Amino acid sequence: MKKKLIIFDMDGTIYLGANLLDGAKECFDYLWDNNIEYVFFTNNSSHDLDFYYNKIKNFGIKCDRVKNFYSSTEVAIAHLKKCGYKKLFVVANKSLKDKLVNDFELITKYDGNTKIDCVLAGFSTELVYQELRDACLYLQTQDCDFIATNGDFRCPIEDGLYIPDCGGMIEWMRLCTNKKATVMGKPNPEIIEYLADQFNVPMEDVLVVGDRIYTDILVGVNAKVDSVMVLSGETTMEDLKNYDYRPTYILDSIKSLKDLLK
Ligand SMILES: [Mg+2]
Repeated sequence: MKKKLIIFDMDGTIYLGANLLDGAKECFDYLWDNNIEYVFFTNNSSHDLDFYYNKIKNFGIKCDRVKNFYSSTEVAIAHLKKCGYKKLFVVANKSLKDKLVNDFELITKYDGNTKIDCVLAGFSTELVYQELRDACLYLQTQDCDFIATNGDFRCPIEDGLYIPDCGGMIEWMRLCTNKKATVMGKPNPEIIEYLADQFNVPMEDVLVVGDRIYTDILVGVNAKVDSVMVLSGETTMEDLKNYDYRPTYILDSIKSLKDLLK
């Protein structure tokens, strides 16, 4: 299989928590040596891209901070700008809020008078109840938009364990307000089109690689590009029975990817 651009998930695909998966470094060396472009794309909006750049670089993988790193945050910000929004109420980590302050006014409390354009939710590891409460009050009292960076229910960490992610947070808000967030990260196919365009590569030369069926693989299905599911993270062969779509290829881990690309 010949591809020109590979879009990689990180958590569960390249590493698990602090541990690089076996064969990952050799895989990226192969891509580098064979001029196959790669991008690290994460739905995880709890860290900024410098965090991922440093993590990947410290694993000894060749990468460029600007060229190779994208997250659902960039896609969400591009969308908010396109909509012409000015005032936001944001439930997310400080790192995401810091990114937004240049382009938007961030409202930090519900007061019953201030009109906002949008409630934005991101994976928050700094979540406080007051934020969730105020976001839900805005969603019930105003005809504002409701956007989420990602819809992942949980994020894999070390030892086969998970921590709650943005998908659960927006589900909690939906149960309170009856409003459903529009999700910007994977599986929204706009990401693949955006990246193919950035690298000037036709869609048929794009491959997505990830460990989660309902985000990493579904984004490939939605964008009609080939996908590889690795079994090193969240989704198991057993789980596949619950979905009516399939990855193009299934591998035990990233270790076997370079054989597939030869
Ligand atoms: Mg993953």
